[in-house]
Amino acid sequence: MVAPASTQEVAGVVTVCARHGAGIVPQGGNTGLCGGAVPDLSGEQVLLSLSRMNRIRRVDPGNDSLVAEAGCILADVQAAAAEVDRCFPLSLAAEGSCQIGGNLSTNAGGLNVIRYGMARQQVLGLEVVLADGTVWEGLRELRKDTAGYDLKQVFIGSEGTLGIITAAALKLAPKPANPVTFLAAIRDAGDAVALLGRLRSVLPDRIDAFELISDRCFDLVARHLPDARRPFAERPGWAVLADAVEGTDEGRVEAVLASCFGDGLVVDAILAKNKAEAAGLWRLRHAIPEAERPAGYCLKHDIGVPVGRLARFLAEAKALVARLEPDARPIVFGHVGDGNLHYNVLQPAGDDGFRERGADLSRSLYDLVAKFEGTFSAEHGIGVTKKELLRTYRSEVELGLMRTLKTALDPDNRLNPGKVI
Ligand code: ZN
Repeated sequence: MVAPASTQEVAGVVTVCARHGAGIVPQGGNTGLCGGAVPDLSGEQVLLSLSRMNRIRRVDPGNDSLVAEAGCILADVQAAAAEVDRCFPLSLAAEGSCQIGGNLSTNAGGLNVIRYGMARQQVLGLEVVLADGTVWEGLRELRKDTAGYDLKQVFIGSEGTLGIITAAALKLAPKPANPVTFLAAIRDAGDAVALLGRLRSVLPDRIDAFELISDRCFDLVARHLPDARRPFAERPGWAVLADAVEGTDEGRVEAVLASCFGDGLVVDAILAKNKAEAAGLWRLRHAIPEAERPAGYCLKHDIGVPVGRLARFLAEAKALVARLEPDARPIVFGHVGDGNLHYNVLQPAGDDGFRERGADLSRSLYDLVAKFEGTFSAEHGIGVTKKELLRTYRSEVELGLMRTLKTALDPDNRLNPGKVI
């Protein structure tokens, strides 16, 4: 492992590796879920940690931007923005240890995509070390720039296979007002989309997060966190957890919930009265991935479909799981406002053969996602674990374009070899 502390040192490492024919695996906070930052077992790949490149180079509140090195922890970038009364809106569960370079190289998503977009929407410019050790200095901090191809977007989401991001010029947003947080119980997952529509009609562009949680998640969390209880006495089936900024339109969220309650769209609702109550509701959501672990083997699917088709997709997925694995337990949660759900399926209690059979269920679910013109990887990337899926669900034309880019930018296959394509 090498841990360079400057762009020139990264370039030096890449040059030496090129001379000796060694592959390079860039690694940020090592929180990825698809093995993209892990060397293969050959023992011949150099792990390049960006952790020491952790300076905020400059902050420009006048331009609403800052320049951060790749190894900056995401939470530190958020804190640097807060110091000048701005916000860096990318937010995800691993923000205390993931690094901005990794977030950009995987085009991370997370909780606030509904309002601010994915990681690639937060970037103004990049500094990248290329496969031959030259440095592309593209750290422009411009909102408008039509001079040629938008090269930064080629590197964002490429998982270190086209170049090594060493620094980024990032867009800052105004500091958001405190949101109103609510947890609403609904009968049908499709009602979440209807509720989102109602909320948007009165507070367009001011919904920070809109998450769907299936009822079984609350059971797991109640078992996992000793002091947590199920939030609703009844079992409505699903719940929506949302943050919406009312600003001067105080009472709007409550009014929407009341009208939805009247129509039967919402069965029950908890409106947080203060920050502590809001944090308590979000804690239930954040605990889900950890609460899953002790419950047994879980097949995970980071899927996305167009929001308008989500209700139909969920109905068909439920029928599919019931047909193929009637005793398996779907644990569904995620970013319903973006059409992205973590459609996980927990093994039937005591049935360890599920692990063996899981591949068939996953493939059927992915086929269903494809039928709805969705994606098998909405926010976790490809790494090594989803390479096969990329080959299956993307066209030859698309794969050919990806190979063309890879060959052009890394002709000797030195950068993160064996990942993505
Ligand atoms: Zn997620």
